[in-house]
Amino acid sequence: MSTNPFTEEHELLRQSITKFCEKEIIPYVEEWEKNEHCEKSIFKKMGEKGFLGVSFPEKYGGGGMDFWGAVVVIQALANSNIAGLSMSLYAHTYLPLPLIASLGTPEQKEKYLIPALKGDKIAGLGVTEPGAGSDVAGIKTTAVDKGDHYEINGSKMFITNGNIADFIVIAVKTGEGLNMSMIIVDTDTEGFSTIKINNKLGMHSSDTAQLFFENCKVPKSNLIGQEGHGFYYQMNNFQEERLLAAITGTFVAEWSLEKAKKYCMEREAFGRPIGKFQVVRHKLAKMAITVETCRSISFRAVAEFIEHGNKAETIITMAKAYTGEESIKVINDALQLHGGVGYTEDFGIARAWRDARLLSIGGGTTEIMHEILGKVVLDEVEHTDKLSEESVKA
Ligand SMILES: Cc1cc2nc3c(=O)[nH]c(=O)nc-3n(C[C@H](O)[C@H](O)[C@H](O)COP(=O)(O)OP(=O)(O)OC[C@H]3O[C@@H](n4cnc5c(N)ncnc54)[C@H](O)[C@@H]3O)c2cc1C
Repeated sequence: MSTNPFTEEHELLRQSITKFCEKEIIPYVEEWEKNEHCEKSIFKKMGEKGFLGVSFPEKYGGGGMDFWGAVVVIQALANSNIAGLSMSLYAHTYLPLPLIASLGTPEQKEKYLIPALKGDKIAGLGVTEPGAGSDVAGIKTTAVDKGDHYEINGSKMFITNGNIADFIVIAVKTGEGLNMSMIIVDTDTEGFSTIKINNKLGMHSSDTAQLFFENCKVPKSNLIGQEGHGFYYQMNNFQEERLLAAITGTFVAEWSLEKAKKYCMEREAFGRPIGKFQVVRHKLAKMAITVETCRSISFRAVAEFIEHGNKAETIITMAKAYTGEESIKVINDALQLHGGVGYTEDFGIARAWRDARLLSIGGGTTEIMHEILGKVVLDEVEHTDKLSEESVKA
């Protein structure tokens, strides 16, 4: 991979999304954070400019760029220090829509994907339940085949955009064990209701909801792909979400480091800028190493994702696990270097710190990433043992 993966086209996108953030996002950050949701109109504004689906195919209204285009958008949003809004946008674009783009029927693409990429409809993804988060196979929401429709009963927990979405792609049980399916539910369906979750630590500008399904009748035509294959579809679909989390963590850490560097040269104590103290310089040096490592692993994950799609699972999982833990430490150190003002809302670092805490939880916790990787590592040992046994026999 070349050290700079960004082309002229990406740089033009960077210029326009940066300008857009300066005009349409940054002036409203405080208001949206206070209101605990962003304005729905931001989806439309971003859709009109093509920022929602930069890496989706042009035939669906996307930008037709590779995933580096999405990375450019993520960085501009990270630099706006409004991770809540970013999460809302990702939960709209990169969680439910790849499923419809890759497995949906032409009618589903027409009705849901195209309007969502334009920002005319808002979307969400509902996998987590009150009783099952990490253990996706443990979900209890059911969709029972009633001939021409499914009847859905159950509940979903912590669903981003849950109160503002026009449709939500949900994981449901359609049989025993891993017999799960992914179904699109319009939020005006009778029997669907939500409760807003207001008391989050951070990500205040994103809407979060608990969803309830009470005898919801959903047309069979809303099934994505084949019935019973949903578990595998969603396991694959997690890759894009985890990649986004890794990239976001990297850029928020980078943003925090830049802020800390600047502050350390401005703030004076004991007659000199605090950046002149060796302890502070070494802390900044270690933060810079961590940011660079986060960038290396997450950029490598993007490159592999572009080449191999969801088969790049191992490096994506590593990037999510690593950046999810390490970026938080950089942001924490950046807050520390700001001293008392870091603890106030005036410098933005406090918001970055509390928002970032979700990075090791959402989209699969670090422990679950380690579980996945632990199996890969042990499989490699078994594979090597098998090969050496075979070579001894031969
Ligand atoms: C603000 C916010 C927004 C979210 N948005 C969405 C969304 O849009 N859609 C959606 O579907 N979900 C969403 N989630 C849910 C999120 O993905 C889950 O919270 C996450 O996957 C963890 O699940 P859980 O909360 O049930 O924790 P649990 O699964 O109960 O885990 C609790 C703890 O136990 C550990 N643990 C569990 N199993 C194991 C194991 N086998 N080995 C070792 N440790 C283990 C976990 O790592 C964790 O530390 C959101 C959550 C939040 C907070």
